[in-house]
Amino acid sequence: MINPAAQWAIQIDVTNRCRRTCSNCTRLLAHARERFCMSPWAFRQACAAVHTFPDHSTPDRNGRPKVIGMIGGEPLLHPEFPELCEIMAEEIPDRRHRGLWTSEPLLITLGAC
Ligand code: SF4
Repeated sequence: MINPAAQWAIQIDVTNRCRRTCSNCTRLLAHARERFCMSPWAFRQACAAVHTFPDHSTPDRNGRPKVIGMIGGEPLLHPEFPELCEIMAEEIPDRRHRGLWTSEPLLITLGAC
């Protein structure tokens, strides 16, 4: 097992809302009893807790820049997604270290939000 400090990315789970029903859902959404959306306050706390990860953790063994990003469910369905992006930009100023994992068919690149 790779030490968490040596991982390439940290994913912050901001919601379990999703439009899809993938049979192999790694988020186990079919078993969720109710939907949740992380509050902007909690998201800021999460970002602040890990904001040193990109520059103060074991370098990625493949040389990739370290990334902290949003995942779900589908992060774009979070009703306060624009506010989450603003918080992320404040807490993680270097856009090379911001990420977004989405299943929506949009052209979104790492650090775009
Ligand atoms: S898109 Fe992702 S979160 Fe949504 S059902 Fe499929 S695997 Fe699960």
